[in-house]
Amino acid sequence: MKFGGTSVGSAQRIKDLVKLTVNPTPKIVVLSAMSGTTNKLVEICEALYSKETEKSKQLINELKEKYKKEISELYSKENSLSKAKELIENHFNYLQAFTLDMFTANEEKAILAQGELLSTALFHYYLEEFGVSSVLLPALNFMRLDTNDEPDMAYIETYLSEELKKFPNENLFITQGYICRNSFGEIDNLKRGGSDYTASIVGAAIRSPEIQIWTDIDGMHNNDPRVVNKTHPISKLSFDEAAELAYFGAKILHPTCILPAKKRNIPVRLKNTMQPEAAGTLIDNVSTQEGVKAVAAKDGITAITVRSDRMLLAYGFLRAVFEIFERYKTPIDMITTSEVAVSLTIDNNKNLEAIIKELKEIAQVEIDENQSIICIVGQLPKGKSGYGYKVLEALKDVPLRMVSYGGSANNISVLVDGSLKKEALQALNKGLFNY
Ligand code: ASP
Ligand code: MG
Repeated sequence: MKFGGTSVGSAQRIKDLVKLTVNPTPKIVVLSAMSGTTNKLVEICEALYSKETEKSKQLINELKEKYKKEISELYSKENSLSKAKELIENHFNYLQAFTLDMFTANEEKAILAQGELLSTALFHYYLEEFGVSSVLLPALNFMRLDTNDEPDMAYIETYLSEELKKFPNENLFITQGYICRNSFGEIDNLKRGGSDYTASIVGAAIRSPEIQIWTDIDGMHNNDPRVVNKTHPISKLSFDEAAELAYFGAKILHPTCILPAKKRNIPVRLKNTMQPEAAGTLIDNVSTQEGVKAVAAKDGITAITVRSDRMLLAYGFLRAVFEIFERYKTPIDMITTSEVAVSLTIDNNKNLEAIIKELKEIAQVEIDENQSIICIVGQLPKGKSGYGYKVLEALKDVPLRMVSYGGSANNISVLVDGSLKKEALQALNKGLFNY
């Protein structure tokens, strides 16, 4: 069971976790940092990088005050309160010691790890106060990346089971999301939002019957609730549908998170801590009903059109184009082609200038920035009539920059100018879901 930042965001929310976690079902509870903490730690690192010592000290103190306040609300027994005070002193003294001249990525990662170390220990102490037995599993003892910075599953399985074996009679384990070690054994992390990934990796490593991701929304929705008036939670998704949605903007799940679960065929259930009785969303490999399930949008997309007469009846031209993106380690999301041109999209503009320069050596190049990919996800069997029509009909008044259909049976994507995203999502909500 993984609980995100808002689910451990205050003393009250930590108290609320007891109802969800304390029962005889054996489980590993994976916690994020209390909400806002990791952002604050990032700010602290930025201040240290720029040698703003006073600012970093001030930020650290602000964060410490927040924790002092939370623990005074969380614990009612003197014993646990003094343990929590000591914990906070230790972690914040550690942070205050980072005012060095040589501030590097290693120090930064050690700082970013503090949020999860704090939240898990605080929850553990809280359970202790009730006489509920639990074990704090140090993620840094088993979560490890390999030399490609991918989770080292063999290592994780071996060392996690070593940790678990030490407590054969225990059924409640708590561990940190997000944090890990790299292949040199240094503290590292799974990138922002990575606690979901931890849960999926841990669940896969122990071959858990289910992985639960608890957040503050009742599962994945058919559309973006921030953009359209009416949405509904989706009760069931396949792994492939969920991956498309997570990647294209449904913020509830970290995009890579489901891969380990999918590989081991472990169902992932998304649940709402504020509304535990709600069904949430179940993601597994049982294929779902035919039809459109959801739409999602991804902003900040750049479309690049590459046009060349050399493409006419030629082979090798696309390879030459793609090679340039590969050299700059820039993933391509969407592609459409005609006989003399290819349009593609990227969401990482870091090397855009260099890429354009090289593309211009082989073709004419046109760029449109600030585009949005609108992704329509579901079971949409290829060669079956109706789905392409429905999508385009719903979008009949929205100018489309690109359309991609047939790449997978789970997705139709269109590209629109960013200023038209809202209109497109609303039109799809009406045309596909009758809202
Ligand atoms: N605390 C980390 C973050 O805010 C990891 C997570 O919450 O998943 O990114
Ligand atoms: Mg989070």
